[in-house]
Amino acid sequence: MWRYEMKVLVINCGSSSLKYQLIDSETGKAMAVGLCERIGIDGRLNHTPAGGEKVVVEKDMPDHEVAIRMVLDALVNEEHGVLKDLKEIDAVGHRVVHGGDKFTKSVIIDEEVMAGVEECNPLAPLHNPANLIGVRACQTIMPGVPNIAVFDTAFHQTMEPVAYMYGLPYEYYEKYKVRRYGFHGTSHSFVSRRALQMLKLDVNDSKVIVCHLGNGSSISAVKNGKVMDTSMGMTPMEGLVMGTRCGDIDPTIVEYLTHQLGKSIEEVMTILNRESGVLGLSGVSSDFRDLDAASNEGNERARMAVEVFSYRAAKYIGSYIAAMNGVDAIVFTAGLGENNCVVRQQILSHFGYMGIAIDEEANSKRGEEMIISTPDSKVTVAVIPTNEELAIARETVELLK
Ligand code: ADP
Repeated sequence: MWRYEMKVLVINCGSSSLKYQLIDSETGKAMAVGLCERIGIDGRLNHTPAGGEKVVVEKDMPDHEVAIRMVLDALVNEEHGVLKDLKEIDAVGHRVVHGGDKFTKSVIIDEEVMAGVEECNPLAPLHNPANLIGVRACQTIMPGVPNIAVFDTAFHQTMEPVAYMYGLPYEYYEKYKVRRYGFHGTSHSFVSRRALQMLKLDVNDSKVIVCHLGNGSSISAVKNGKVMDTSMGMTPMEGLVMGTRCGDIDPTIVEYLTHQLGKSIEEVMTILNRESGVLGLSGVSSDFRDLDAASNEGNERARMAVEVFSYRAAKYIGSYIAAMNGVDAIVFTAGLGENNCVVRQQILSHFGYMGIAIDEEANSKRGEEMIISTPDSKVTVAVIPTNEELAIARETVELLK
């Protein structure tokens, strides 16, 4: 029998990195958090026990299995560990980036699920294989401990064809699964649910727009608790202007740049992924703290980059108000959504005509759950900090209890 109170190791595997949190599901608190970097290059573990100092261990990490073994060693270490025995870990929750149209919710991982995730590899060639390597490593090192997959795409699977179909020949959807999937689903789910609770909205009669604004950014329209539309597409490239991603552009630009630059499509895609967005626009940074500092010093391109970001976000919000035929609440989350009052103010300044009024004092705060609209605002605007790791731990417990 599984206990309802569990210690869940939450793992987010990238191609050369691995983020982890050990979460006590009873308190919802992280007992330890950490990051393995430079896997396959050299290797560095950053481990922080709750309430303790960060410990850095530099040691060769040729692969993810070695990295996970180091994480487990850190968790039971006499000095900076938080567990007496690894047997205390009840389950592992894995963030899996792409579940295609196969996975509409989180699942307990077995061989069939592994094969299903592998089938989605072509849709997320950098992420899914890394996620699978993380699962395999846990299966090897902790046999008998259940592994759960929580998909970035699953919450968006409620979209109807009208929202997820692209204007392309239909056979590409049938043969190659070319459609909108959406990402950051764990965050959009966590934050929209919390918004319903916090604002006492009826789930069956609610229209919520969630703005997950971080380094990667996406906005979703959640009607009656289900995603109706979202700004990221078949991949996370589509939608908003992001830290380093371009978001929506005219597809002809790709062809044009390959000719102008004499580069391959792959090279141009790397530019669109890593060198574009507010970084490319400003030439300063992908981090909005640097952009705000540069704008304050009179850097016009940095100022323009932030404005382009906010303008695009406002256009998406406007389109989702049209799609849902109204909106009860607009919620901001993630690094920027929670902390950057300039961006929030710029975005919301487009909605005065709708009777949205912002409490400037509330909006000047950051990092906490709060309502930032005035009591007489026609639409409630809130900030709700996201916690994807906690959401993954909760899904894990929910599946196993
Ligand atoms: P990621 O998509 O990598 O998880 P985040 O959600 O951490 O990104 O968002 C990164 C952005 O959020 C950066 O541009 C940064 O300026 C901003 N940000 C994150 N934390 C803070 C903070 N404490 N104060 C101000 N801005 C922050």
